[in-house]
This record gives sequence, structure tokens and C-alpha cells, in this order.
Amino acid sequence: MLRITLFVISFFCFPLITQASSVTLQILGSGGPNDISGRASSGYLIWIDEESKIMIDAGSGTSLRFGEAGASMSDLAFIGISHLHTDHSIDLFSLIKRGYFSKRDTPLTIAGPSGNDHYVGFSTFVDNFLNSYDYLNHYNIEIKTIDASLPGKAQPVWSEGEIKVYSFAVEHADTPTLAYRIVTPKGDIVFMSDNNATAAGMDEFIKDANILVMHFPINEQEEESGQLFWHANPSKIGQVARKAQPKLLVLSHFMDLSLNDKSNSLNKVQASYKGPIILANDLVKISL
Ligand SMILES: [Zn+2]
Repeated sequence: MLRITLFVISFFCFPLITQASSVTLQILGSGGPNDISGRASSGYLIWIDEESKIMIDAGSGTSLRFGEAGASMSDLAFIGISHLHTDHSIDLFSLIKRGYFSKRDTPLTIAGPSGNDHYVGFSTFVDNFLNSYDYLNHYNIEIKTIDASLPGKAQPVWSEGEIKVYSFAVEHADTPTLAYRIVTPKGDIVFMSDNNATAAGMDEFIKDANILVMHFPINEQEEESGQLFWHANPSKIGQVARKAQPKLLVLSHFMDLSLNDKSNSLNKVQASYKGPIILANDLVKISL
């Protein structure tokens, strides 16, 4: 009888986890590579039922923030890296080392983009680092390299129960880059990462997100000055958000150009997009 009772309890407890009774986005890093305001670079954590389950990007400083957030490597199941620039990826290896001090029964899935003439693919990036010496090369990880040359196509990347992660190739000058959409029973969170807002099919991928995270590193003048076309300027961000109609727009990845011209830049966004906006800060939590 006791055995049956225990079975019934565990049977009904398990679906509670996969149904995700609470989903919370926590900003780990809201800054960029030339931060001037004490922010970590790009990184986002998704708590599902109080577990630090999913992380998107692992830029410099995010491993420190991960600890400050009280997150656990044992609970972390998936890390999606948008692209290989250090402000999005370099703390991946600090996190792997952090994981050595906690128990892991199942592999940590880590995913990132395929390469091109300028960048190695994600698995080569990870292998090159981990195989450089024996020190790190024993952690239980599964590496997924996602084709970043497939514009206009959402690709399933990872799932656990009702939580699903999709990727989408975006345009970031010469750098293979992925956006991610996290689908949960409580709603969807989309991370656009660094991109210039020209990818075909992007509007469909981000449509109706509950939270849309867009990167805000430059001011309006930067693109007009003829720099490489890496980032959407504030006006473009506003136009994208107006079409997507998220329940909340989170602006993040601030750099000196956007911070020094914040109110002007924000006005440019709001010229098109009239919905709610939050300016990200490290460790801020937003519940779905
Ligand atoms: Zn960046």
C-alpha cells in the first residue's frame, strides 16, 4: 500500500514540473563588451518552477551573475549561444568549470551556430577549448551545432516536456547568429540577440511573444555613419516591435553608444512601438 501511495505521489508530482506552473526570465547580463556601467555582457536565465533550467548566451561576467542569482548547474539543462563573439559566449567555459562542483545525472545540452569563412562552427569552438588540456574535458555535455545558414526557418533545438526551444538564423554582418524562442505553457520568450533586423521571416518567428528581448547597443546615428551593418538602430527596433506586438519589450545589451544617448534612442523606439518597455538591468526578474 505504501508503495502504491508513493507511486501515486510521484506520478502526480512529475507532470507538475513539465507543466511549468511558474516561468521567470532573469537578466544575467544587460551590458556589452565595452561596458561603462558595471553590467555583465549578454546572458539570460529562465527559471521554470524555481529551477534555473535554461540559459541563453554566456557573455563575460554572466558566470559570476549566475552564482549571484542563486542558480544551480545541477538544474541547468540547456544553454543556447547566439554567436561566438566573446560578449555572448566566453563564460560558457567558466560555467562548465562551475558545473564540476555539483552533481549531474543527465548531459547539459549546449547549442550554437554553424561556422562560415570567418568563424568556426560551435562544436569546433567548444572542442578546441576543452581539448586544449585535460583540465576541463570531463563534464557531461551534449553539443549541438545549428545550421545558421538557413534564413527564414525556425529549427527545433531542445525540449523537455512542454518546454521547447527553437532557433532562427538572423543577420549580424559576417557573424553566424541565432535568435531563440522559448515556448512554455505560460507563454513564450524570444531572444533576438545582436542582429540588424533584416532576416527574412524574422517577423513571423518573433510574433506574439510574451516577452521580446531585443539588443540595444547603438544609437540612431551609428548606422548612418556607415559602419558595418551589425545592429538594428533604435528606429528599426521600434518597427520590429510594432509588428511583433509582444506583451513586453525588454531592451538589453547596452553599450556606451546607447547609454550615452538613452532618452533620444528610446524616443526613436517609441515613435513606432507604443507597448510596454523595460530597460534591462543585471539580475532583474520578470515573471510570465
Ligand atoms: Zn554583442
